[in-house]
Amino acid sequence: MTTYVYDFHQGNKDLRDLLGGKGANLAEMTNMGLPVPPGFTITTVACREYLAHGRVPAALRDEVDEHLRALEQAMGRRLGDPDDPLLVSVRSGAKFSMPGMMDTVLNIGLSDASVSGLARQSGSPRFAWDSYRRLLAMFGRTVLEVPDELFDDALETVKKARGANSDLELDETDLCGLAGTFRTIVRDRTGRDFPQDPREQLDLAIRAVFDSWNGERARLYRRQERIPADLGTAVNVVAMVFGNLGMDSGTGVAFTRDPGNGDQGVYGDYLQNAQGEDVVAGIRNTLPLTALASVDRPAYDQLLSVMATLERHYRDLCDIEFTIERNKLWMLQTRVGKRTAAAAFRIAVQLVDEGLITMDEALARVTGAQLAQLMFPRFAADGRARQIARGMNASPGAAVGKAVFDSRRAVQLAAAGVPVILVRRETNPDDLDGMIAAQGILTSRGGKTSHAAVVARGMGRTCVCGAEEIDVDTHRRQAAVPGGLVVHEGDVLSIDGSSGVVYLGEVPVVPSPVVEYFEGKLRVDGSDPLVDAVHRIMTHADAAARLGVRANADTAQDAERARRFGAVGIGLCRTEHMFLGERRKLVERLILANGDEEADAALAALLPLQRDDFVEILAAMDGLPVTIRLLDPPLHEFLPDLTDLSVRVGVAAATGEAGVDGEVVLLEAVRRLHEENPMLGLRGVRLGLLIPGLVALQVRAIAEAAVIRRRRGGDPRPEIMVPLVGAVQELEVVREQAERVLAEVAAESGIDVPALIGTMIEVPRAALTAGQIAGAAQFFSFGTNDLTQMSWGFSRDDVESSFFSRYLELGIFGVSPFESLDRDGVGRLVRLAAEEGRAARPELKLGVCGEHGGDPDSVHFFHRIGLDYVSCSPFRLPVARLEAGRAAV
Ligand code: PEP
Ligand code: MG
Repeated sequence: MTTYVYDFHQGNKDLRDLLGGKGANLAEMTNMGLPVPPGFTITTVACREYLAHGRVPAALRDEVDEHLRALEQAMGRRLGDPDDPLLVSVRSGAKFSMPGMMDTVLNIGLSDASVSGLARQSGSPRFAWDSYRRLLAMFGRTVLEVPDELFDDALETVKKARGANSDLELDETDLCGLAGTFRTIVRDRTGRDFPQDPREQLDLAIRAVFDSWNGERARLYRRQERIPADLGTAVNVVAMVFGNLGMDSGTGVAFTRDPGNGDQGVYGDYLQNAQGEDVVAGIRNTLPLTALASVDRPAYDQLLSVMATLERHYRDLCDIEFTIERNKLWMLQTRVGKRTAAAAFRIAVQLVDEGLITMDEALARVTGAQLAQLMFPRFAADGRARQIARGMNASPGAAVGKAVFDSRRAVQLAAAGVPVILVRRETNPDDLDGMIAAQGILTSRGGKTSHAAVVARGMGRTCVCGAEEIDVDTHRRQAAVPGGLVVHEGDVLSIDGSSGVVYLGEVPVVPSPVVEYFEGKLRVDGSDPLVDAVHRIMTHADAAARLGVRANADTAQDAERARRFGAVGIGLCRTEHMFLGERRKLVERLILANGDEEADAALAALLPLQRDDFVEILAAMDGLPVTIRLLDPPLHEFLPDLTDLSVRVGVAAATGEAGVDGEVVLLEAVRRLHEENPMLGLRGVRLGLLIPGLVALQVRAIAEAAVIRRRRGGDPRPEIMVPLVGAVQELEVVREQAERVLAEVAAESGIDVPALIGTMIEVPRAALTAGQIAGAAQFFSFGTNDLTQMSWGFSRDDVESSFFSRYLELGIFGVSPFESLDRDGVGRLVRLAAEEGRAARPELKLGVCGEHGGDPDSVHFFHRIGLDYVSCSPFRLPVARLEAGRAAV
């Protein structure tokens, strides 16, 4: 038979599912011998049954009767006894804390009759009427759904009539009158009298708490916090202790350490002559907890000792609620307290130093998301700047600069030392220089995996994308924003990549000491306890991790930073990023080449440039693996836009303008290469197979760079990666070409630098035929961006700014599959490919280089399925390292 009610003596802290957090912890404290008023907990099972069937389970009433009798016996009073009433509180308490979202009713058991008994017994009629008016208002509001303002207004009216600033100045007569007014309000609004039968009050309050699980506020909160909707709440029925019995009584909340910054010491607020809700409601100004020492030293000392006991017992920061009734301390609640990211790191290492937890536990208690929060520069609070739009928080941070609308201008101004924000409708590879030069990037289109977002995250640049309210006019170098405002080039913008908010004007920015530490600019010398804590936990994470963490980096600067940030290699060097800017013309020559000779010349011109890039990158990553990916994107990305060019050529033809023959040839090429679906078109390995000499050029550049590094005494470890393979035959052809070139360079130079040859697994067919592909690959690197795109059939550049928000609202997924790996679908492909790949070739190295490599949840998944490494943008490295460590403990 189901048991619906547990006495506090029967529960413990591990029964949160059943008793809710509050009930489980009240039970734990009771069993620890701490001063907890007696009481019992109605389980979440009872709540779920009530919500499912719309009525209280039949056996619940009997169980409540039984526990109530025991409570009455323990207290030596009967509930609502007219001569000497026992009063109880009815408090909600779900498994996960939902502060203020559900209902609580205090002083159940008071009635017109028992209020006089309470007055006599306590010797304080004022207290008795104060308690009764509180019950009437709380019960009226939560159980009978009378609007709160009616009670508040009535209280204010009495206060005004008495010239009182605070409810403390009201006397017995005022409060008695107020109780009368409240009763009338209840009758007028509900058509019935406030129930005088204490047991009826109790039953109604229990049901009201059950119902509050599905209240509007609670539902909203759950959705935001991702708390499952079907857990239900427990209900705690607790003998009342009174903080409103006089100035020797009071109520308070406290933390065993500062939850804001982790400082040691006791923090909290205390309010004399008050009941619980007054503290939270801010009815009167509270005293700092330390002031309790002078008000009531023995109670204060006991409180500190209880808090120390709780911390030792829970081995963590606790927050508590307590009441002092005529100098006697009572504990009403405790739980492991919420804290900021900085406090989480600091408290974790403090607890290690105090011998309460191990370093493994400290590591488990902080998260990558918290570390990421500590790494962003922040806007200091500033009321002056005006919010003009909100887009997607694509790459975190706080950036301030003058608005510029094209890349060239961004570079010019930045070179002159002017900080700029690059504002574009969307970005493309041509914007790279401008993006590098800018403090931040703002686009009006595109989602979190748009070019702007991916590149910005890669560079650690702040980026807000898809801010659709902004109408960007590149030609006029301005943008219209809501409210009829126009932002012109040179106007200052501040963009918050963590919230997606865009401000007009300058908001002051504070740098992150944690980033300065990772950059090696801050020493770990005890002067900054947060940096100390981060350092110790990171060191432990690295030692614990089984997954290596590499970086996605395409430049020597990125590679250097990645190394400072702890990368153990490069997992993805996107070579297309090396063909931009000035070099684009050279690629254009290759594409437009008329015959082998011209093509060879174009390739020959590219070779030294590629080689020099690789020399630098291999130097920055000396002794560590560098995975270089052969050219991936469709060729049209290196040519001008079809529409723009058609217009230019058309206008020239109409006006008889001379000298545009080159443009006409270009237009033909652009037309020839135009694809309706370029993402599914001529890109990746397909390019290598179609453009003679392309693979050879890139492999030669890699091999020659490695030889140069060797000659300079270095230890280059290049790996060659082929993108977008779907069939082993594709890889075999490229591999053969690559091996031939490697052998040629070895023969020419007399230096043989071994290079692994592997492939990306980013086309579903590659994952499904991984066993075959492993026959030709020495490593796999999962390109989970494309694998997600192709598994779901979602265009990674479009969907996040179009229908994803609706999908999230509908709960089709809780988070974008481009952000956190979809384990059931894409994850299954990755697991299958890893297993079949390894079965075919046991020494096969397995990594991930899609954006998911830096996502905490995904990192845990990759750890579990036994991959060797993840690779992510340099700025996400510390987060990935931390999570790789956490996954292993
Ligand atoms: C991928 O598809 O996951 C990947 C890393 O390649 P890119 O993002 O360059 O397409
Ligand atoms: Mg890809």
